[in-house]
Amino acid sequence: MRNIQMVDLQTQYQRIKDEVNHSLDQIMSKGHFIGGTTVKQFEANLSLYLDVKHVIACGNGTDALQIALMALDLFPGDEIIVPAFTYVATAEVIALLGLTPVIIDVDPDHFNVSYDIIEPYITDKTKVIIPVHLFGQSSDMKALMDNARKKGIYVVEDNAQSIGANYIYDNKKEKKTGTIGDIGTLSFYPSKNLGAYGDGGAILTDDDELAAKLRSIANHGQSQKYYHDIVGCNSRLDAIQAAILDIKLGHLDNYITLRGKVAERYDLGLKSIGAIKLPYRAEFSSHVFHQYTIKLKDGHRDQLKEHLSKCGIPSMIYYPVPLYKQKAYAQYFKADFALPITEKLCDTVLSLPICPELKSEDQDYIIEEIHNYFNIHG
Ligand SMILES: *Cc1c(COP(=O)(O)O)cnc(C)c1O
Repeated sequence: MRNIQMVDLQTQYQRIKDEVNHSLDQIMSKGHFIGGTTVKQFEANLSLYLDVKHVIACGNGTDALQIALMALDLFPGDEIIVPAFTYVATAEVIALLGLTPVIIDVDPDHFNVSYDIIEPYITDKTKVIIPVHLFGQSSDMKALMDNARKKGIYVVEDNAQSIGANYIYDNKKEKKTGTIGDIGTLSFYPSKNLGAYGDGGAILTDDDELAAKLRSIANHGQSQKYYHDIVGCNSRLDAIQAAILDIKLGHLDNYITLRGKVAERYDLGLKSIGAIKLPYRAEFSSHVFHQYTIKLKDGHRDQLKEHLSKCGIPSMIYYPVPLYKQKAYAQYFKADFALPITEKLCDTVLSLPICPELKSEDQDYIIEEIHNYFNIHG
């Protein structure tokens, strides 16, 4: 019996077991579980990898977004622009801080925002734009950054899904996603491309002053021990997670390469099926394939998902419901508010299993079963 999973963390662990267990044994023996050298070392290594001046580790990717917004001196009523086609965390922190989410549509091909889409929504209350680099690709950042700078609007990149992706600009110059805006955020949720064995997150910035403020907010607004200058929160990465992340960071580029190979195998195997639109590769970004997300011709998505499920193949709908249709966010919208591209994506996208450990024979079986479905229903 095949055991196909969206993400195979057990096999990944088996391959790095010796490194992980050795490192965990050291931490347990030393007894330093919060902060300390392990967390500092991971922050330093990540800052080198991403080529960003400051990395502030924190509790998770949602906290990272919240702390980022807390550092920007915003006031109730300030408007924050976010895409509708994203995970709820992006809008949640805005609502939680009493700010106003302005939820916008995305590009139908690469699923991300671009300045063209954003521009009509900018008002004199717009204080922050949060592009989400969804599924493993960068948003189109050039015009977005140029205009945000001109208008004095902050840019916070939600990079929970695209660590390691390269944004490409000005004839092949590259910058890692999360290091382009004023602040970038990361999640180390276990199934993310760089995943811990529990929760974790990080905040990125090149700005010294912002970095000090972000670090202080994540630590109860403390400037020195027991002196609290601003209202903060408690959000920290523990040493055990930092040690695991530091080991996995050493493998991240290899993991990205292997994800790319899985994606190519899907591309080749599925390209002859007319009812499937393969993932688009934007010219301004590399793709780290956090998700391999296809679009199905009308009516096929749910049936194909059902067929795969009967064959023991998991698949996921990211995301089935746009932000503005979530009950918690209804208060921000008129009843008939709708964004056409997001609506369509929610009805037609399907994410297939992808991870560095996916076996070729299992992947071929997935491809074969997709063909079988279309041989019957095509
Ligand atoms: C995972 C994710 C988050 C939240 O990260 P957590 O670590 O689960 O809090 C935020 N935004 C996006 C786009 C995500 O995919």
